[in-house]
Amino acid sequence: MSDTKNVRVRFAPSPTGKLHVGGARTAIYNWAFARATGGTFILRIDDTDPTRSTDENTQVILRAMRWLGLDWDEGPEVGGDYGPYFQTERLDRYREAAERLVAEGHAYYCFCTAEKLAADREAAAARKDSFQGYARTCRDIDPAEAKARVEAGEPYTIRIKVPLDRGDVVVRDAVHGDVTFNARELDDFIIFRSDGTPTYNFATVVDDAEMGITHIIRGDDHLSNTPRQVIVYEALGAPVPTFAHISMILGADGKKLSKRHGATSVEEYRDAGYLSDAFVNYLALLGWAPDGESTVISRERLASEFSLDHVSKNPAIMDPKKLDFINGEYLHAMDDQAFADEILIPELHAADLEPAGECLHEEAWYDMLAAALKPRTTLGPQVVEQAAYLYTADNELEYDEKAVKKWLAKEGARKALDAAGEALAGLEDWTPEAIEAALDPIPEQLEMGKGKVFQPIRVAVVGSAASPGIGETLALAGKEHVLARIERAKELAS
Ligand code: GLU
Repeated sequence: MSDTKNVRVRFAPSPTGKLHVGGARTAIYNWAFARATGGTFILRIDDTDPTRSTDENTQVILRAMRWLGLDWDEGPEVGGDYGPYFQTERLDRYREAAERLVAEGHAYYCFCTAEKLAADREAAAARKDSFQGYARTCRDIDPAEAKARVEAGEPYTIRIKVPLDRGDVVVRDAVHGDVTFNARELDDFIIFRSDGTPTYNFATVVDDAEMGITHIIRGDDHLSNTPRQVIVYEALGAPVPTFAHISMILGADGKKLSKRHGATSVEEYRDAGYLSDAFVNYLALLGWAPDGESTVISRERLASEFSLDHVSKNPAIMDPKKLDFINGEYLHAMDDQAFADEILIPELHAADLEPAGECLHEEAWYDMLAAALKPRTTLGPQVVEQAAYLYTADNELEYDEKAVKKWLAKEGARKALDAAGEALAGLEDWTPEAIEAALDPIPEQLEMGKGKVFQPIRVAVVGSAASPGIGETLALAGKEHVLARIERAKELAS
């Protein structure tokens, strides 16, 4: 268990695309860890790749973070004492840090051309050398001479001087345990390119050190970068933080999550109708569990109980069914009125069933519809298909072919419709209870099973064989429409 006093963590996306589910989970873990330890959650935009980073992507990421409800304590828009929080605004700092390392003998100017490096590599490969990295050609150039060459305008990179006696680099990882890397393999890697830009491994460490980051929680695709980063911390004389490399999120086939598996970006899930709380809940549980049992974990619980001790190092598999299940749990926990106001009515508007900004019915009608549909809904937009029969003209209702075959074109269906039409025609109190009471005696009267009586009525009114209870289904449609539809369906019934 690592020290959790004065925790400072950061989520550092590169704005080279949208926020994907893997990144979202990394952000959630950082946020939850900061909240659970009373620490600070920092958002930093790693936009040093000028060809692939765009402002638009940054905006998309910030929007996705806000939708996820992951508020940051320092970063874009909120500022903080350790800014700026965009790497492109920190370029001077990287240069200063690199020059300082050169001055202190922890880094050096390298003048090797691309051709020379390629030739060295080929020669080492031909000799079958055990070490095929950079041959350290410029490591021992006299510093004064090197400086003079730089000042004379010769192109150069800056390389870190990995101490020859460094031995193994042991990365202490809260998820993977101690992971040992052979320092010899690390090479005197480049920290500053000849075009004057810092490399990822350098800029990240300069920032993480300057920002006082105590725990680095990120995807395990960065585990192999970590020994190089440890070397940079050591060269800078900065304390090495605790690392926690979390697994990748894979598709059901065990392959890296991609478009082939369905939605990959956070906003696609938002647009598909998932609730932010449910989505965060689901992603948090992909690789972390407080107790191995709970599937519904509130944001509050996540923010108080999250710990790195229970994070799994096994790859997490994205399971859309489980996500739907959890989303359903959140929907079912809403009260009917909230479901009507937050899910049902907005979805009806979005689908143009109700004209924008208008409500065609009384409030009680929406509450009844909400109560009927809520238990049958795992994703908001599903209400549209279920409610569509209420927004269709009686003579335009389409009948599901299978339902017609199974329930209407069956012996006795006509009799059931006749009896229902009669029982309902005289009904004054058009409520679910009264409708059910009116229909209830029919199976016995006709000596038919309940399904054989009620299903043809349902198909007649809804067009398909699936709907909430018959009383609510008919009550919502209104008496006049129910009677008209029963009449119309008689033509299809035997
Ligand atoms: N910008 C890097 C990325 O998006 C950050 C990696 C890190 O957290 O160090 O992969």
